[in-house]
Amino acid sequence: MKSYRGRTVLAIGAHPDDIELAVGGTLARFVRDGARVVMAVVSIPADYDTRRAEAERAAAILGCELRFLVQDAGCKRIDDIKNYQLVGMIDGAVRELAPAALLTHSASEFHRDHVMVHNACLSAQRLKPFDLFHFNPTMCRPVPMPFHPRAYVDVSETIDTKMEAIEAHASQFGARGLDTDMYREVARMNGRMVGVKYAEGLDVGRMLLA
Ligand SMILES: [Zn+2]
Repeated sequence: MKSYRGRTVLAIGAHPDDIELAVGGTLARFVRDGARVVMAVVSIPADYDTRRAEAERAAAILGCELRFLVQDAGCKRIDDIKNYQLVGMIDGAVRELAPAALLTHSASEFHRDHVMVHNACLSAQRLKPFDLFHFNPTMCRPVPMPFHPRAYVDVSETIDTKMEAIEAHASQFGARGLDTDMYREVARMNGRMVGVKYAEGLDVGRMLLA
């Protein structure tokens, strides 16, 4: 983790809350370890003002910068963005920020928007070398998915921060009568896999062992 100190880590998620659910603890650790962390949300599909405010609060809790790749102040579904435009937005972020690491959705997602973002991030690898990690499929209720982490980040010290950032998305959880315990339980299970209290799992797309 400390190899990213003084460098930029970029996390790209399709919608507000995806990044926090998957790697909120990891990003908070990167920040603690001295990295600049930018959360890039592609678009807000509905309920623009509420979801934007929730995302801003969550990013502040994690200590990350936040930006929206779709610049217009209005709701937009990723399906309505042409593929070359999506690739162009992600290329633009990678060119500008020159991240040492990029974290994004995996191919093992049932949400088509997430798969589109995954594929666009794969394309960005041609621009420059950076470590690429894919995170756990994100969902509000558990669904069986063929995702198998191969690398783990110890988030024992940042799990509470992660949970607080998730709670900031009240429109997705509390307001729908959904609790957020699942995310702590998944982190506990991943932690058992590697002998720490809480962990987040990542799949490795490309990584320079340093
Ligand atoms: Zn999503």
